[in-house]
Amino acid sequence: MQVKFWGVRGSIPTPLSPGEVEAKVITMAEDVVSAGITDPNEVAGYLRRKYSMLQRATVGGNTTCVSVEWPGATIILDAGSGIRLLGESLMDGPCGNGGTELHLLFSHTHWDHIQGLPFFAPLFQRNILNIYGCHDDIEKRLRYQQSYDYFPIPLESFLAELKFNQCVPDKAVDLPGGGRFIPHKLNHPGDCYGYRIEHEGKVMVFATDSEHSPKDRNDDHDVVEFFRDADLVIFDSQYTLEESIIKEDWGHSSAIVGVDLAARANVKQLALFHHDPSYPDSFVHNLLMKANTYRHSNYNGIPLKLFIATEGETITL
Ligand SMILES: [Zn+2]
Ligand SMILES: [Zn+2]
Repeated sequence: MQVKFWGVRGSIPTPLSPGEVEAKVITMAEDVVSAGITDPNEVAGYLRRKYSMLQRATVGGNTTCVSVEWPGATIILDAGSGIRLLGESLMDGPCGNGGTELHLLFSHTHWDHIQGLPFFAPLFQRNILNIYGCHDDIEKRLRYQQSYDYFPIPLESFLAELKFNQCVPDKAVDLPGGGRFIPHKLNHPGDCYGYRIEHEGKVMVFATDSEHSPKDRNDDHDVVEFFRDADLVIFDSQYTLEESIIKEDWGHSSAIVGVDLAARANVKQLALFHHDPSYPDSFVHNLLMKANTYRHSNYNGIPLKLFIATEGETITL
Protein backbone atom coordinates (compact mmCIF):
# COMPACT_ATOMS: atom_id res chain seq x y z
CA MET A 1 0.00 0.00 0.00
CA GLN A 2 1.38 3.39 -0.99
CA VAL A 3 0.19 6.50 0.85
CA LYS A 4 0.96 9.95 -0.52
CA PHE A 5 0.29 13.36 1.01
CA TRP A 6 -1.05 15.93 -1.47
CA GLY A 7 -2.39 18.45 1.07
CA VAL A 8 -1.54 18.58 4.78
CA ARG A 9 -2.75 21.99 6.00
CA GLY A 10 -5.98 22.51 7.92
CA SER A 11 -8.65 25.18 7.57
CA ILE A 12 -7.34 27.22 4.59
CA PRO A 13 -4.53 26.94 1.99
CA THR A 14 -1.32 28.40 3.45
CA PRO A 15 1.34 29.19 0.83
CA LEU A 16 4.69 30.51 2.02
CA SER A 17 4.87 34.31 1.83
CA PRO A 18 7.61 35.95 -0.31
CA GLY A 19 9.33 37.04 2.91
CA GLU A 20 9.36 33.45 4.23
CA VAL A 21 10.81 32.12 0.94
CA GLU A 22 13.51 34.81 0.99
CA ALA A 23 14.43 34.08 4.62
CA LYS A 24 14.87 30.37 3.85
CA VAL A 25 17.01 31.04 0.77
CA ILE A 26 19.26 33.43 2.72
CA THR A 27 19.64 31.02 5.67
CA MET A 28 20.60 28.14 3.36
CA ALA A 29 23.03 30.28 1.33
CA GLU A 30 24.73 31.57 4.50
CA ASP A 31 25.03 28.03 5.85
CA VAL A 32 26.59 26.70 2.64
CA VAL A 33 29.14 29.54 2.66
CA SER A 34 30.04 29.07 6.33
CA ALA A 35 30.40 25.31 5.80
CA GLY A 36 33.07 26.14 3.21
CA ILE A 37 31.30 24.29 0.39
CA THR A 38 32.61 25.49 -2.97
CA ASP A 39 31.64 22.56 -5.22
CA PRO A 40 28.07 23.20 -6.55
CA ASN A 41 27.54 19.42 -6.80
CA GLU A 42 27.82 19.11 -3.02
CA VAL A 43 25.25 21.78 -2.11
CA ALA A 44 22.02 19.76 -2.50
CA GLY A 45 23.39 16.72 -0.65
CA TYR A 46 24.70 18.87 2.21
CA LEU A 47 21.38 20.68 2.70
CA ARG A 48 19.34 17.47 2.43
CA ARG A 49 21.48 15.77 5.07
CA LYS A 50 21.29 18.70 7.47
CA TYR A 51 17.69 19.88 7.11
CA SER A 52 14.32 18.10 6.85
CA MET A 53 12.10 18.86 3.86
CA LEU A 54 9.97 21.20 5.92
CA GLN A 55 13.05 23.09 7.17
CA ARG A 56 14.79 23.53 3.82
CA ALA A 57 11.56 23.85 1.78
CA THR A 58 8.10 23.76 3.41
CA VAL A 59 5.60 21.41 5.02
CA GLY A 60 3.25 22.39 2.18
CA GLY A 61 0.41 24.86 1.77
CA ASN A 62 -2.46 22.80 0.35
CA THR A 63 -5.42 21.58 2.38
CA THR A 64 -6.35 17.97 3.02
CA CYS A 65 -5.87 15.35 0.34
CA VAL A 66 -4.18 11.94 0.67
CA SER A 67 -4.01 9.14 -1.89
CA VAL A 68 -3.77 5.43 -1.09
CA GLU A 69 -2.87 3.01 -3.87
CA TRP A 70 -2.31 -0.68 -4.45
CA PRO A 71 -2.47 -2.63 -7.72
CA GLY A 72 -6.00 -2.23 -9.06
CA ALA A 73 -7.18 0.58 -6.75
CA THR A 74 -6.67 4.32 -6.35
CA ILE A 75 -8.34 5.73 -3.22
CA ILE A 76 -8.47 9.44 -2.43
CA LEU A 77 -9.12 10.80 1.03
CA ASP A 78 -10.80 14.22 0.84
CA ALA A 79 -10.70 16.85 -1.87
CA GLY A 80 -8.94 19.83 -0.31
CA SER A 81 -6.81 22.04 -2.53
CA GLY A 82 -4.13 19.30 -2.68
CA ILE A 83 -6.35 17.23 -4.97
CA ARG A 84 -5.48 19.57 -7.88
CA LEU A 85 -1.89 18.28 -7.95
CA LEU A 86 -3.05 14.67 -7.56
CA GLY A 87 -5.37 15.24 -10.53
CA GLU A 88 -2.50 16.47 -12.69
CA SER A 89 -0.47 13.42 -11.75
CA LEU A 90 -3.36 11.07 -12.57
CA MET A 91 -3.91 12.82 -15.92
CA ASP A 92 -0.26 12.13 -16.80
CA GLY A 93 -0.99 8.47 -16.03
CA PRO A 94 -4.12 6.31 -15.91
CA CYS A 95 -6.81 9.03 -16.16
CA GLY A 96 -5.46 10.93 -19.19
CA ASN A 97 -7.43 8.91 -21.75
CA GLY A 98 -10.48 8.30 -19.56
CA GLY A 99 -11.99 4.99 -18.51
CA THR A 100 -10.26 4.85 -15.11
CA GLU A 101 -12.19 4.24 -11.91
CA LEU A 102 -11.25 6.19 -8.75
CA HIS A 103 -12.59 6.01 -5.18
CA LEU A 104 -13.00 9.26 -3.21
CA LEU A 105 -13.81 9.02 0.50
CA PHE A 106 -15.07 12.19 2.21
CA SER A 107 -14.45 12.67 5.93
CA HIS A 108 -16.82 15.66 5.95
CA THR A 109 -17.58 18.71 3.84
CA HIS A 110 -15.90 21.64 5.59
CA TRP A 111 -14.34 23.83 2.90
CA ASP A 112 -10.77 22.70 3.47
CA HIS A 113 -11.87 19.15 2.53
CA ILE A 114 -13.92 19.85 -0.62
CA GLN A 115 -12.60 23.08 -2.17
CA GLY A 116 -10.23 21.33 -4.62
CA LEU A 117 -12.87 19.17 -6.31
CA PRO A 118 -13.80 21.70 -9.06
CA PHE A 119 -10.09 21.70 -10.07
CA PHE A 120 -9.66 17.90 -10.17
CA ALA A 121 -8.69 17.35 -13.81
CA PRO A 122 -9.75 13.65 -14.13
CA LEU A 123 -13.37 14.89 -13.85
CA PHE A 124 -12.99 16.67 -17.19
CA GLN A 125 -12.30 13.32 -18.87
CA ARG A 126 -14.53 10.21 -19.13
CA ASN A 127 -13.37 8.60 -15.91
CA ILE A 128 -15.54 7.14 -13.12
CA LEU A 129 -15.46 8.67 -9.64
CA ASN A 130 -17.01 6.59 -6.86
CA ILE A 131 -17.76 8.97 -3.99
CA TYR A 132 -18.27 7.66 -0.45
CA GLY A 133 -19.28 9.32 2.79
CA CYS A 134 -21.52 8.79 5.81
CA HIS A 135 -23.42 12.09 5.59
CA ASP A 136 -26.73 11.52 3.76
CA ASP A 137 -26.52 14.56 1.45
CA ILE A 138 -22.94 14.75 0.15
CA GLU A 139 -24.15 15.06 -3.45
CA LYS A 140 -26.32 18.07 -2.52
CA ARG A 141 -23.41 19.73 -0.69
CA LEU A 142 -20.98 19.26 -3.61
CA ARG A 143 -23.61 20.49 -6.08
CA TYR A 144 -24.09 23.58 -3.91
CA GLN A 145 -20.34 24.29 -3.89
CA GLN A 146 -20.51 24.51 -7.69
CA SER A 147 -23.75 26.50 -7.95
CA TYR A 148 -23.37 29.44 -10.33
CA ASP A 149 -22.90 32.10 -7.64
CA TYR A 150 -19.77 30.33 -6.42
CA PHE A 151 -18.26 28.56 -9.44
CA PRO A 152 -19.00 28.83 -13.18
CA ILE A 153 -18.98 25.09 -13.95
CA PRO A 154 -21.76 23.01 -12.35
CA LEU A 155 -21.17 19.48 -11.07
CA GLU A 156 -23.23 17.96 -13.92
CA SER A 157 -20.86 19.46 -16.52
CA PHE A 158 -18.09 17.05 -15.64
CA LEU A 159 -17.46 14.42 -18.30
CA ALA A 160 -16.67 11.87 -15.60
CA GLU A 161 -19.43 9.75 -14.16
CA LEU A 162 -20.00 10.44 -10.44
CA LYS A 163 -21.42 7.57 -8.37
CA PHE A 164 -22.50 8.47 -4.83
CA ASN A 165 -22.44 5.81 -2.13
CA GLN A 166 -23.70 6.44 1.40
CA CYS A 167 -21.74 4.44 3.98
CA VAL A 168 -22.80 3.22 7.41
CA PRO A 169 -20.41 3.94 10.30
CA ASP A 170 -18.36 0.90 11.40
CA LYS A 171 -19.56 -1.19 8.42
CA ALA A 172 -16.83 -2.35 6.04
CA VAL A 173 -16.96 -1.54 2.32
CA ASP A 174 -14.98 -3.64 -0.17
CA LEU A 175 -12.55 -2.02 -2.62
CA PRO A 176 -11.02 -3.46 -5.81
CA GLY A 177 -7.76 -5.40 -5.52
CA GLY A 178 -8.74 -7.17 -2.30
CA GLY A 179 -8.88 -4.18 0.08
CA ARG A 180 -11.62 -2.62 2.18
CA PHE A 181 -12.36 0.42 4.33
CA ILE A 182 -14.31 0.99 7.55
CA PRO A 183 -15.72 4.44 8.40
CA HIS A 184 -15.87 5.56 12.04
CA LYS A 185 -17.54 8.64 13.53
CA LEU A 186 -15.17 11.22 15.04
CA ASN A 187 -15.81 14.12 17.41
CA HIS A 188 -16.09 17.25 15.20
CA PRO A 189 -18.70 19.99 14.61
CA GLY A 190 -21.20 18.74 12.00
CA ASP A 191 -19.77 15.19 12.33
CA CYS A 192 -16.68 13.85 10.63
CA TYR A 193 -15.74 10.27 9.77
CA GLY A 194 -12.34 8.62 9.85
CA TYR A 195 -11.44 5.72 7.58
CA ARG A 196 -9.52 2.57 8.43
CA ILE A 197 -8.18 1.15 5.14
CA GLU A 198 -6.92 -2.44 5.02
CA HIS A 199 -5.09 -4.31 2.27
CA GLU A 200 -3.03 -7.51 2.43
CA GLY A 201 -2.46 -7.27 6.18
CA LYS A 202 -1.45 -3.58 6.10
CA VAL A 203 -3.60 -0.95 7.83
CA MET A 204 -3.68 2.82 7.53
CA VAL A 205 -6.12 5.05 9.41
CA PHE A 206 -7.14 8.52 8.27
CA ALA A 207 -8.44 10.37 11.33
CA THR A 208 -8.36 14.09 10.73
CA ASP A 209 -10.70 16.74 12.10
CA SER A 210 -11.28 15.01 15.38
CA GLU A 211 -11.21 16.39 18.90
CA HIS A 212 -9.63 14.33 21.66
CA SER A 213 -9.28 16.51 24.71
CA PRO A 214 -6.38 15.95 27.15
CA LYS A 215 -8.88 15.10 29.90
CA ASP A 216 -10.21 12.24 27.73
CA ARG A 217 -6.77 10.77 26.99
CA ASN A 218 -7.50 7.64 29.01
CA ASP A 219 -10.99 7.29 27.54
CA ASP A 220 -11.77 7.40 23.81
CA HIS A 221 -11.83 3.60 23.85
CA ASP A 222 -13.67 3.40 20.52
CA VAL A 223 -10.95 5.47 18.83
CA VAL A 224 -8.21 3.27 20.30
CA GLU A 225 -9.96 0.21 18.84
CA PHE A 226 -10.35 2.05 15.51
CA PHE A 227 -6.57 2.69 15.50
CA ARG A 228 -5.69 -0.79 16.85
CA ASP A 229 -2.40 -2.22 15.45
CA ALA A 230 -2.38 0.20 12.48
CA ASP A 231 0.84 0.56 10.47
CA LEU A 232 0.06 4.25 10.00
CA VAL A 233 -2.40 6.70 11.59
CA ILE A 234 -2.83 10.14 10.04
CA PHE A 235 -3.85 12.26 13.02
CA ASP A 236 -5.32 15.73 13.46
CA SER A 237 -2.66 17.53 15.52
CA GLN A 238 -3.68 21.07 14.58
CA TYR A 239 -3.22 22.50 18.07
CA THR A 240 -0.57 22.60 20.74
CA LEU A 241 -1.58 20.86 23.98
CA GLU A 242 -2.29 24.26 25.58
CA GLU A 243 -4.48 25.39 22.66
CA SER A 244 -6.44 22.14 22.69
CA ILE A 245 -7.46 22.93 26.29
CA ILE A 246 -8.45 26.55 25.49
CA LYS A 247 -10.19 25.69 22.22
CA GLU A 248 -12.53 23.08 23.64
CA ASP A 249 -15.26 22.01 21.16
CA TRP A 250 -13.40 23.49 18.17
CA GLY A 251 -13.01 19.95 16.86
CA HIS A 252 -9.23 19.42 16.72
CA SER A 253 -6.50 17.71 18.73
CA SER A 254 -2.83 17.94 19.70
CA ALA A 255 0.16 15.74 18.90
CA ILE A 256 0.58 14.92 22.61
CA VAL A 257 -2.88 13.32 22.86
CA GLY A 258 -2.18 11.60 19.52
CA VAL A 259 0.90 9.97 21.09
CA ASP A 260 -1.21 8.70 24.02
CA LEU A 261 -3.88 7.21 21.72
CA ALA A 262 -1.32 5.70 19.31
CA ALA A 263 0.67 4.14 22.16
CA ARG A 264 -2.46 2.57 23.66
CA ALA A 265 -3.49 1.23 20.23
CA ASN A 266 -0.04 -0.22 19.33
CA VAL A 267 0.26 2.01 16.26
CA LYS A 268 3.58 1.83 14.38
CA GLN A 269 3.69 5.28 12.74
CA LEU A 270 1.81 8.46 13.65
CA ALA A 271 1.67 11.21 11.02
CA LEU A 272 0.98 14.65 12.51
CA PHE A 273 -1.49 16.27 10.11
CA HIS A 274 -3.93 19.18 9.46
CA HIS A 275 -1.33 21.79 10.39
CA ASP A 276 -2.73 25.10 11.60
CA PRO A 277 -2.53 27.89 8.97
CA SER A 278 -1.00 30.25 11.54
CA TYR A 279 1.96 27.94 12.23
CA PRO A 280 5.10 28.53 10.15
CA ASP A 281 7.31 25.56 9.21
CA SER A 282 9.64 26.16 12.17
CA PHE A 283 6.71 25.99 14.60
CA VAL A 284 5.43 22.74 13.04
CA HIS A 285 8.97 21.34 13.34
CA ASN A 286 9.00 22.27 17.06
CA LEU A 287 5.68 20.48 17.59
CA LEU A 288 7.35 17.28 16.40
CA MET A 289 10.33 17.83 18.70
CA LYS A 290 8.02 18.32 21.72
CA ALA A 291 5.88 15.30 20.78
CA ASN A 292 9.02 13.15 20.46
CA THR A 293 10.25 14.29 23.89
CA TYR A 294 6.85 13.40 25.38
CA ARG A 295 6.81 10.05 23.58
CA HIS A 296 10.31 9.09 24.80
CA SER A 297 9.67 10.14 28.41
CA ASN A 298 6.32 8.35 28.65
CA TYR A 299 6.48 5.43 26.24
CA ASN A 300 10.08 4.36 25.94
CA GLY A 301 10.51 0.88 24.55
CA ILE A 302 7.54 0.86 22.17
CA PRO A 303 8.11 0.95 18.39
CA LEU A 304 5.97 4.08 17.70
CA LYS A 305 7.51 6.49 15.17
CA LEU A 306 6.28 10.09 14.84
CA PHE A 307 6.65 12.29 11.79
CA ILE A 308 5.24 15.47 10.28
CA ALA A 309 3.02 14.81 7.27
CA THR A 310 4.66 16.83 4.49
CA GLU A 311 3.23 17.61 1.07
CA GLY A 312 4.63 15.34 -1.67
CA GLU A 313 5.84 12.66 0.79
CA THR A 314 5.12 8.99 0.00
CA ILE A 315 4.95 6.24 2.64
CA THR A 316 5.07 2.59 1.61
CA LEU A 317 3.45 0.15 4.06
ZN1 LIG B 1 -10.28 20.48 8.27
ZN1 LIG C 1 -13.58 20.23 9.77
